[in-house]
Amino acid sequence: MILLTRKAEFAAAHYYWNDKWSPEENARVFGKCANRNGHGHNYTLEVTVEGDVDPVTGFVVDLKKLKDLMHSEVVDVYDHRHLNHEVPEFRDRIPTTENMAISIWERLQEPILKHLPGANLHRVRVYEMADLFADYYGPAEVGS
Ligand SMILES: [Zn+2]
Repeated sequence: MILLTRKAEFAAAHYYWNDKWSPEENARVFGKCANRNGHGHNYTLEVTVEGDVDPVTGFVVDLKKLKDLMHSEVVDVYDHRHLNHEVPEFRDRIPTTENMAISIWERLQEPILKHLPGANLHRVRVYEMADLFADYYGPAEVGS
């Protein structure tokens, strides 16, 4: 089994806010990130798939197809958007790096199963900055 990773970049704006809290509580917990005008980041996304090397092609997956899926499912939706206002899953999910990793997993898992036979999504890594990233390996297995 081989792990294969592809990167993509996008820029997006966000802010952190919990509607259940007062403005004071949001400011206390989220600091500058609670400014509801938002601020931007240049994000780097890494998507890792796992599978066996096809003895005929030498590939785990068709990398062009993986790139196309990352763009159609994630980059085209997030790039140059205000995540809180323009991306549906962040209407009720604070667009932290952690939640973005989960959301990207949810966007990619089915399309990868459908379009990349023999490969499984292994990890989604989202860099908000060079020194800050979140990894998501999918929901915990039932019973583990
Ligand atoms: Zn931020």
